[in-house]
Amino acid sequence: MTDIAANLAAIRARIEEATARAGRPPGSVTLVAVSKTHPQEAVIAALTAGQAVFGENRVQEAQAKFPGLRAAHPALRLHIIGGLQTNKARDAVRVADVIETIDRPKLAAAIAEAMGKEGRRPDCLVQVNTGDESQKSGVPRAEADAFIRAARDDHGLPVTGLMCIPPVDADPRPHFAYLRELAARHGLSVVSMGMSGDFEAAIAEGATHVRVGTAIFGHREVPA
Ligand SMILES: *Cc1c(COP(=O)(O)O)cnc(C)c1O
Repeated sequence: MTDIAANLAAIRARIEEATARAGRPPGSVTLVAVSKTHPQEAVIAALTAGQAVFGENRVQEAQAKFPGLRAAHPALRLHIIGGLQTNKARDAVRVADVIETIDRPKLAAAIAEAMGKEGRRPDCLVQVNTGDESQKSGVPRAEADAFIRAARDDHGLPVTGLMCIPPVDADPRPHFAYLRELAARHGLSVVSMGMSGDFEAAIAEGATHVRVGTAIFGHREVPA
């Protein structure tokens, strides 16, 4: 069995070491524990070990696992980190505290409309396709500046930062550095980047949020 509490303690220690090595203040990096495909018992084990911030890829899975836990765990914060269909916008606004994957005008419009209807305004991150990979979601680099401005100013979304998933077979550091600089240029404080395999490099490059799944919950048996 996966020892979630021990894994969390080890990851938190590595985050603090990487934060110190980067000359950044202690506690300046938030761990988003990515629980996709793992059962609610795994989430409860992490909550019991003091973890409050979680990430899920699919809205439907998030709805099944999280709303029932909020009463007992008021500090719980859920990030939606997977690609979103516009027809899931309303459910996403209802279940999430942060939506990390705003990446096209139609989705920005749908999320804005859903926020109006729900009377709820989760923080939004713009996902940038830093490798300009055709199969990947995220705004292409060349459109990022204009899209960030449009999401904020035209659609009125509460955009607090940026998110990226670098190409799997490339050195992630230039991608992380690019995302940090793009965020700074737009005055955005949240930079969500780094996963189980590269979160220390992301912290060295200025990540404020790292999204770690496998290193906490173990390997996923089914793809998300
Ligand atoms: C699954 C996932 C993660 C976590 O990846 P691990 O390699 O399991 O740490 C982080 N971010 C996103 C967007 C994901 O889909």
